[in-house]
Amino acid sequence: MSVTKRPAAPRPRAGRAAIPPPARGVWAESGHDSIVDTVRDAVASGRLPAGAKLIEADLAATFAVSRTRVRQALQRLSFVGLVTLEPNRGAFVASPSIEEAHAVHAARRLIECNIVRDATRHCTANDIRRLRAHCAAQAEAEARGEDVRLLRLLGEFHLLIAELGGNAVLADFMRQLIPRTALLQALYQHPRERGCGVADHLKLLDQMAKGDEAGAVATLRQHLVGNLARLSVRPAPTQMTDLASALRPPNAKSGSAPGAPAPPETAATPTARLRSRPR
Ligand SMILES: [Zn+2]
Repeated sequence: MSVTKRPAAPRPRAGRAAIPPPARGVWAESGHDSIVDTVRDAVASGRLPAGAKLIEADLAATFAVSRTRVRQALQRLSFVGLVTLEPNRGAFVASPSIEEAHAVHAARRLIECNIVRDATRHCTANDIRRLRAHCAAQAEAEARGEDVRLLRLLGEFHLLIAELGGNAVLADFMRQLIPRTALLQALYQHPRERGCGVADHLKLLDQMAKGDEAGAVATLRQHLVGNLARLSVRPAPTQMTDLASALRPPNAKSGSAPGAPAPPETAATPTARLRSRPR
């Protein structure tokens, strides 16, 4: 059997775009909700530590939005497991256990191995080209030391493949699992370690391009097992900071604030208000 991808393979399902426009929950390259995007990036990069209290009034002041808008964003973050909402206590950055890390990775192995098999079967040469361009962006972010952007791209790569798999329900599961994986990495991984390797992604892509379903599944499984193995039982130490600073991307100027918020010095977010809940 030939393993060469034809340039324009017939599509197995009518109406599916090569790679559809972003609809990736809280893990889109450019999302629609600056609060969700900013909190997600701060959590996934470890700047907002697990257990940190997210005070509605502070977030509203920081982003210059209403508390209703903040509550909606916190609900979205809660849906994907990044935030815990507790009655009468408020919102906290989630504190998943190491057991949950194993459960999340087990779920990903189960779901993604099926996804990558289907994606390998159905992807076109154009899909592969676009995924290669995405890998090039990952490598560029890595070379420039753009850690937050790299983290987002590495997770997004898996979501792009999920979309190629053609099963919308499995892709939805992935939209929940990717941000949770990022939080687990921020919590249990050494800061110098990285969850995904760009080289792994390129190897997977080569196998998909050749139509090598078994090889792609094996590579993905090994990739996920390797990512889990880099998590340690003890949570990585986290550095407490004030909310406005935690939400500001590392490369941003000190006077700029996340999204479209007020300057940090006017935001009512003293260090004392970002408290970590005991685990
Ligand atoms: Zn990966």
